Amino acid sequence: MNLITHVLIGIFIQILCFKFFTFPLNFLLTVFIAFLSHFIVDALAKITYHTPEPHWDDKFWVSWNITVRVSGYIAIFLFFPYYLGMLFANLPDIWDWVIVRRIQKRRNINGKTDYHHSNFFHRIVDKIREKTLFWLPNWNYKKFGVIPEILIVINLIIAIILLR
Ligand SMILES: [Zn+2]
Repeated sequence: MNLITHVLIGIFIQILCFKFFTFPLNFLLTVFIAFLSHFIVDALAKITYHTPEPHWDDKFWVSWNITVRVSGYIAIFLFFPYYLGMLFANLPDIWDWVIVRRIQKRRNINGKTDYHHSNFFHRIVDKIREKTLFWLPNWNYKKFGVIPEILIVINLIIAIILLR
């Protein structure tokens, strides 16, 4: 799923872990559960609008991606004390799409970039999705797929406000 969803899940997990556990368990559980959440949330992304490739010519795609990116950055800023949960909930994306992809780009001198080897964590996500969520419809190219993600985001915001 998108940055905003992973960020909010990370905040939610950290709030819960710090509410119910004391040091050092609160830190350890936040790290562990936030990291695991990425795999479950991304596997569920099957029922959300999430095209594997960019569609710069599609206004809907562009506005949706700007919205989820910018709102993600705003949430990081507003909830910065929950950086631990936010960081670990986004770690597989940071590793696969930011770090590994960048290193690979530098390695490919002939202009061809092989993205196949960069999705280390997201291959695990694919396996989880194939093995457990095969029964869900694939809405990755359906524009109404933004609705499930918006509903998840709204519920997370309400939960965070109620818990804080
Ligand atoms: Zn991801």
